[in-house]
Amino acid sequence: MSEKVLAAVKVGPSTTELRELELPPVPDDAALMKVEVAGVCGTDVTQYRLPLRNGPLVMGHENVGYLARVGKTFAAHNGMREGDLVFLEHYLPCGHCEWDHLGEYRHCPATEWFYDPGAIRYGYTSMAIAPGLWGGFSHYVYLPLNAVLHKVPEGLTPEEAGVATPMSNGIQWALIDGGVGYATTVLIQGPGQQGLCCLMASKHAGADLVIMTGTSKDARRLEVARAFGADHVIDVEAEDPLERILTITGGRGVDVVIDCTVGGGTAPTLLGIEALKRRAGTMVVQGEGNQEFPSFPIGRLTRKAITLKSARGHSYRAVELALQQLAAHRFPLEMMMTHTFGLAEVDYAIKSVGGQGAPGAIHVSVLPWR
Ligand SMILES: [Zn+2]
Ligand SMILES: [Zn+2]
Repeated sequence: MSEKVLAAVKVGPSTTELRELELPPVPDDAALMKVEVAGVCGTDVTQYRLPLRNGPLVMGHENVGYLARVGKTFAAHNGMREGDLVFLEHYLPCGHCEWDHLGEYRHCPATEWFYDPGAIRYGYTSMAIAPGLWGGFSHYVYLPLNAVLHKVPEGLTPEEAGVATPMSNGIQWALIDGGVGYATTVLIQGPGQQGLCCLMASKHAGADLVIMTGTSKDARRLEVARAFGADHVIDVEAEDPLERILTITGGRGVDVVIDCTVGGGTAPTLLGIEALKRRAGTMVVQGEGNQEFPSFPIGRLTRKAITLKSARGHSYRAVELALQQLAAHRFPLEMMMTHTFGLAEVDYAIKSVGGQGAPGAIHVSVLPWR
């Protein structure tokens, strides 16, 4: 007798249908994860609006759950067993390239879903690739042998562990890429979940001074930033951010700038270049899709000897550090975990992250079994 799985399936641009799918058989070298929490992020908002690339798919790439059925080979290979609470990386690496040996699955060609239609990443992969359960907005996801799992430490609830994705990005971008550490001064632009996680990572690592910027509609998020330890918050629509940053730093500027804005255009990069200290600061940038940048001040950048880095996902190590940091329960995370939705509300959950659903959303989770 076949078993069924309930999943929210994206069937077109901004369109989701609840569907019953076949629960696939689990061979020795695979497993199933019962999804407890699937986080929704800004990437989902952008992706959701786009046309299908290769047929319907199950979205949801920030997944935490219990191993439900575990094949023998899978268990031996991953050191896991049924009942383990795990965080699943959305990268499904080839396992043998130079990047995978470094835990840098984000750079593995096999995870390059944007250019390679055969590549698999959780939350972005068509159901046309068997067995189709490649997203967390579903009761179960399918785990082949090369799935990358992290055990969730004791004392963390699945919902808290659901913050591991933005937190691992925060650790990657602020600490590993930006070099934030003891006594560093940092400017974080954009107080969404990514910005807030960069803030927590920076404070946890001993940053001396963290300044967070936002716009007028971010008033609540800037309050949360304060509660997470931001030393100063700036509404860039209400005052001149550069002037304020220079006043705060006694004219010196900051050591590190991290851009976590969405839809900010070129302004955050331009502010970052000016807000950095006189020489040898570091700026970690996002860059949006097809954004053009006329008159990019390359001369100003090189004269200040600025190091420019790209914020692009996270390494294995960043996830491990994120789970440890979350387990320390240092920050009032509940202020950030604003909304949870069931499977039938996936459409609304994504729209809420995009500012067009439930008001006040910061970190939004889908709980498929609710
Ligand atoms: Zn994400
Ligand atoms: Zn690889």
